[in-house]
Amino acid sequence: MIPEKMRTTFDAAAPRFYNARQLARRPTAPTGNKGCTMAQVPPTPQDADKAKAPHAQRPAPDWGRMVRVWAALVAAMTVAAMIFWAAMPRPRAAAPPATTDPGALRETVWPKEMAPSRAWRYIVIHHSATPVGTLEAIDQTHRDRGFVNGVAYHFLINNGRSPGTADGQIVPTRRWVDQLDGAHTKVRDHPEFNTEGVGICLIGNFDQHEPTPAQMAALEMLVLALRERYRIPLEHIAGHGELKNTRCPGRLFPMETFLMDLRDEHLKRLRSPVSSETE
Ligand SMILES: [Zn+2]
Repeated sequence: MIPEKMRTTFDAAAPRFYNARQLARRPTAPTGNKGCTMAQVPPTPQDADKAKAPHAQRPAPDWGRMVRVWAALVAAMTVAAMIFWAAMPRPRAAAPPATTDPGALRETVWPKEMAPSRAWRYIVIHHSATPVGTLEAIDQTHRDRGFVNGVAYHFLINNGRSPGTADGQIVPTRRWVDQLDGAHTKVRDHPEFNTEGVGICLIGNFDQHEPTPAQMAALEMLVLALRERYRIPLEHIAGHGELKNTRCPGRLFPMETFLMDLRDEHLKRLRSPVSSETE
């Protein structure tokens, strides 16, 4: 670093010292050429100084600028680190396990805080038509659409793709716990699909992909349990699209296979000496 006083001396002296030689070597500006103004600009004494005596012109450190550059660098690194941290895969929040155990299933479907059961006569199957979804998100969406009781279904079956959820996890909604009407299948002159129909929504868009095996296993367990408890006949189990003009639950939802599996499982349980649900 050059002391301030010395630098001032250099600055003052340099132009005088270098001017003569530099100006002598200066190319003559062509006459009549007005096309390129850059070529016609004569070098200034400062240009000469830069070329010939860099030591004399070394700028004093611009501390303000250096601080700004460092601050910008640190800020950029912080932002990069935050983006990296956000994108880093990490263990999901502990998700409740998928409901596969019969005892756990009963506790999930008929929790202690549940209102006295109504006489349900139908089961209507839906998909969320979204790749991911949670009870909270769907509840908010349906409230925004004017459903004062929130999420329109009685149960959700997660696919495990949303944080805090598990594949095949059965989630009863407030409409189920409080035994309220559904708002999932509005068909003119047939209010019973909502007032007597249990609405089950599987998370996923089954126009684009099939439900997961865990979701189908959970659905089968849930429907079997509901059928047995409420004596719901097979012909009262339908996809949303069989009751009104909608593609729900998606063209890839295996409805026929599902109904056959239900029937087979139901018959197997009936033939079994110890029936799991005998009330
Ligand atoms: Zn539907």
